[in-house]
Amino acid sequence: MRKPLIAGNFKMHKTINEVVDYAKGLMNSVQGVSDRDILICPPFTALSEVFKIIEGSHIALGAQNMHYESKGAFTGELSSEMLRDAGCDSVILGHSERRHILKEEDSFINLKVKKAVESNLRAIFCVGELLEEREGEMAEAVVKRQIELGLKGLSETDMEKIVIAYEPVWAIGTGKTASPDDAQTMHSFIRKTIVSLFNTNVAESLVIQYGGSVKPANINDLMAMPDIDGALVGGACLEVDSFSKIITFT
Ligand code: PEP
Repeated sequence: MRKPLIAGNFKMHKTINEVVDYAKGLMNSVQGVSDRDILICPPFTALSEVFKIIEGSHIALGAQNMHYESKGAFTGELSSEMLRDAGCDSVILGHSERRHILKEEDSFINLKVKKAVESNLRAIFCVGELLEEREGEMAEAVVKRQIELGLKGLSETDMEKIVIAYEPVWAIGTGKTASPDDAQTMHSFIRKTIVSLFNTNVAESLVIQYGGSVKPANINDLMAMPDIDGALVGGACLEVDSFSKIITFT
């Protein structure tokens, strides 16, 4: 049985005090929810302060990116060791905004995924096609390539630290959500790809989240699909009320 994972990606939103207030509100609001995992990924600046609030609770802390080296001359970057030090147990890698705006390539993302796993961080590894790739019937080929290259060199045991987030780029922050059926088709394809790269056990244990304009109004229909195991939420995680409603999907 896979435990659903609902994760909030704050992107470049909220100050330290705002995240701290948010975390206090969220803890209150989802008290007692234990049959699903909850993760918040605020900006780097707020990580250690928010960890003081949620430490020991059922809300986990993640970062939105990291570098694959442990230390050195990488101005502006943070290492997995630094993220662990700040209280993170998870990190988002390969987000489409980093792939497309910051031009991160599959091989670069692969180095980070490997380093995250080595550092005992859960990697929320994001994949997803552009609108023109979907319209050109390339969606599956693109996602397959991202998975093959992004997870290259990982062992079956390493896969225990991996969550895949399928986020069609055309659905992120646009208000357009993939239909539950279309999302299910891609999630099932992703699981089959994992069977072929690893085996059925790895594929059946893997949590595959959907991301792209998830909101309280569509979470139930998405979560009703057999291969959708959770959500990576951007815009709708920024208010405690809407994120709580998503977390408590039925
Ligand atoms: C995201 O940031 O990963 C995301 C899916 O954003 P949104 O929910 O706003 O589409």
